[in-house]
Amino acid sequence: MQAIEPATAIAVAVLLGLMIGSFLNVVIHRLPIMMEREWQRQCAELAAQAAPTTGVDPPVSTLEPFSLVAPRSRCPHCGRQITAIENIPILSYLLLRGRCKGCGQAISLRYPLVEAITGIPLRTLLLKVQKKSHKESRSRSANPPLSRAG
Ligand SMILES: [Zn+2]
Repeated sequence: MQAIEPATAIAVAVLLGLMIGSFLNVVIHRLPIMMEREWQRQCAELAAQAAPTTGVDPPVSTLEPFSLVAPRSRCPHCGRQITAIENIPILSYLLLRGRCKGCGQAISLRYPLVEAITGIPLRTLLLKVQKKSHKESRSRSANPPLSRAG
């Protein structure tokens, strides 16, 4: 098997880690909101069952759909929709100097930190795997594998 350039493999691993971190940021931010809305919806349902004559729609049903993919990410301060170029893990944070392009409010350091802490371990893991496979291929060439029975 042809080995991938170590630098390429590390770059891919770091990018993958950053993407996972970016997704985790979305989950960290949105999951509590999604859970809260679900509870509110359930409470409203229960309230409607208890008093079916009110005829008032639960307020949650008027809110826009909210999931891990919709709506698109927005600045929590000014509500400005975040563009794709402002959503690149770590790089965008550095380019924007940690501030929203719309209102200039500080972007939470949590975003680049979560991205970094998933990017770096993946790089370390890859280096370990590469070392191990390098060792194995050396020992394999020294002692050819035994033919398998069965
Ligand atoms: Zn803003």
